Amino acid sequence: MLTLGIMLGYAALLLVLLTRKRAQREVTSRRWLTLAVLAALVSMALTLLPRAAHADSRYEALFVGGLTSPALGVIVTNLVLIFFGLHLLRYVQSRLALVWGVLGLAWWGAQAALSVQSTELSVGAVGWYRYVYDPVVWPNALAFAGWLVTGVVLTLTLLYAFYRARLPELANRALFGAVLIFPVYTGTMLSASGEDVLMEVGWLLTFLGLAGAVYSVVVYRVLDIRRTMRRTAVTGTLIGFTALMVFGALLLGQHLDAQTTHRLYLALGTLALVTAALYWPLHSAVQTLVTRILDTAPEGVARKLRRFTEAITGVVELDEVVGVTMHTLSSVLGVRRGGLILVSEQEDGVLLMEPMRKGLGEIPEIVGHLTPQSPVYERLVNERAPLLQYDLDFSPRFAAAPEAERRFFQALHMSAYAPIVVQRELIGILCCGAKASDVPFTEADLELMSTIANQAGVALRNARLVADLRRREAEQAALNKAISETKEQLERLDSVKTDFITIASHELRTPLAQIRGYTDIMEAMNEQGLLDQDQIAGMTANLRKASDRLEQLIGAMLDVSQLDVDAMDLRFAQISVEHCMRTAIEPLTEAIKNRRLMLSARGLRNLPPIQGDMQRLVQAFRNIVLNAIKYTPDGGRIDIKGWMEDDEIIIAIQDTGIGIAPENHELIFEKFFRAHDPSLHSTGATKFMGAGPGLGLTIARGVIHAHGGRIWVESEKYDPEALPGSTFYVALPLAPPEGAKRILPLESTVSLDVARIEAVLGGESGETSAEKPNSPTLPKPPAGWGA
Ligand code: ADP
Repeated sequence: MLTLGIMLGYAALLLVLLTRKRAQREVTSRRWLTLAVLAALVSMALTLLPRAAHADSRYEALFVGGLTSPALGVIVTNLVLIFFGLHLLRYVQSRLALVWGVLGLAWWGAQAALSVQSTELSVGAVGWYRYVYDPVVWPNALAFAGWLVTGVVLTLTLLYAFYRARLPELANRALFGAVLIFPVYTGTMLSASGEDVLMEVGWLLTFLGLAGAVYSVVVYRVLDIRRTMRRTAVTGTLIGFTALMVFGALLLGQHLDAQTTHRLYLALGTLALVTAALYWPLHSAVQTLVTRILDTAPEGVARKLRRFTEAITGVVELDEVVGVTMHTLSSVLGVRRGGLILVSEQEDGVLLMEPMRKGLGEIPEIVGHLTPQSPVYERLVNERAPLLQYDLDFSPRFAAAPEAERRFFQALHMSAYAPIVVQRELIGILCCGAKASDVPFTEADLELMSTIANQAGVALRNARLVADLRRREAEQAALNKAISETKEQLERLDSVKTDFITIASHELRTPLAQIRGYTDIMEAMNEQGLLDQDQIAGMTANLRKASDRLEQLIGAMLDVSQLDVDAMDLRFAQISVEHCMRTAIEPLTEAIKNRRLMLSARGLRNLPPIQGDMQRLVQAFRNIVLNAIKYTPDGGRIDIKGWMEDDEIIIAIQDTGIGIAPENHELIFEKFFRAHDPSLHSTGATKFMGAGPGLGLTIARGVIHAHGGRIWVESEKYDPEALPGSTFYVALPLAPPEGAKRILPLESTVSLDVARIEAVLGGESGETSAEKPNSPTLPKPPAGWGA
């Protein structure tokens, strides 16, 4: 009867396994479990085969060789173990599952083969357990050894999985699996014993184990093992205690020695009363003690929640909202980790999720998105219900959640989420990590989480509003600052323009007035016939000076206009920086001497040659040195230094002059900008504070940039009394920037020209020969370098 009932049970299990399909994400393997159930069913069916009468009772039915029908039954039962193990290991340790499968089948095959050959009393026969080691009967020994090893390996692996599980629900599942090992293994051993009663008990146990496994496959969230065990322990202790009290009362009652029934009743009644009076307080004391030891009922939750409500209502700082909420979470739910995700809606209806960095434990710096089509959105926003990470990972309901969403939640390493909704809008998500006790979250826990989330809602919204307001204020302030800075800059540029008109008219008019004056004088003297040779020579010299000055000025303005349209035409050749600097300074030596300035140059000779336009570099260096002369009072120093730094040549030109205010360090390179009041200027190219149109540094910067280099100034401040001095730095790469025009070495160009000219003119070179390119080492005097 029992056998038949169990077989029907197995058929039902198979039916359940084959029909109740779920979405892909399974935590255990359904396929292997189906095979295990099937093997269990077959092994039972085998025992129903008619037992052949045999002279020797040890051999009941012979199949092939020495294989008896009970032995076959055991061999098939062993398949149950292999498949059951695969079912449990498949998701816990997939590599181990493979090893398990291979070794298991080898064990199984060896045992089957040995059983076929065996003539001894073998597996499954009545009393075969005695023939395992003394004397050793190999198939029997092999069966025993296999059970021992596989049982230990399986239990250890599942316990390891229990400790390593990332979610409490997964840990519980591993524990559930470990608990199932016991009935399945004991069942197998008993059903292989050959003794009828033991076999039936064994079948029942195996069936119960496998039914449990089927349950865990079909219901993806299994019974909370630890809580059940704890509850059982509490109930067991209380029942035991009550039984003890009743037993004590009965024992006393037995010893009552009453003469009449009347008295006996009275005495019994008194005893019952005393026991009951003692029982209640003792019972509740024991209950409190047991629950406290086993920690099942959260204590004082209502009080803690009330305190939380009081605390959270007054909070307006975001950090404080998180702090107070996390404190409550950890004290009410006993979680080790926790955090808050800020949620804001984007234009396309997608929700942006930004976890706050501060919380209970480390929270990764990531952002996520929640799309309205996602089942997670449905759960949190529409249903406003909490969500378990375990459900998100394994429940078929959330199988359709986008991969990015899944990854975001997994990266948080949390176990449960509760939405924070204010006025139908999701503004945040409260997250809880695993509990310190590592037990799964119960419905009551989630309820509690939702309550906390609800109460934190208004505070969170207020805090976000305040934070928003603060941010806007800061943005506004930054904007205002930028506006006033731009305004200042515009004003300065405007005054530069006005200055330019003043300067240009002054600069142009001075030489013009001189020319005018000298021509007038010459004309008048000429009319009166007073002009002699000496006078003419003196006046033409002055006229030349004035027109040179005009020319320089116009040349500088032309150069700057070229820079404006990026049209400066440079011709690169190999040049020496030292030679360049020497050429630049040469025309200034007179002025340096007159102004009693000390000029020194160091380190230039050792510099490697560079690719550059000699003429233009001379112009740039001259402008810088000229400024150093102009803005250093008589008797000062000018030091020029050169060195190499990371493939670049650096040249520093340092003076002991009036210095430049830091706010003008960039502006002095702008055209027409002059850091000092033009009205203070004295006229004269090399005089102290000599006037200039404010173009020298603009040209210098243009030339250096065209060489792929950099130019900048360092100066502490502007102070004509203290004379802090300024240092101009020029950095030049050894090779010119890409696309630079190069000129061929002198000889090859000349021979090329001659060949061409001869070919075209038949030997008559005429004017064309004069159009030789500039010699890279013999520069023409610069056209305009008036700074
Ligand atoms: P400028 O023709 O006025 O000399 P620049 O373009 O050469 O024009 O220089 C711009 C301004 O930078 C100058 O007017 C001067 O105020 C300031 N400057 C340049 N070099 C120095 C220096 N070595 N020391 C102090 N101020 C300087």
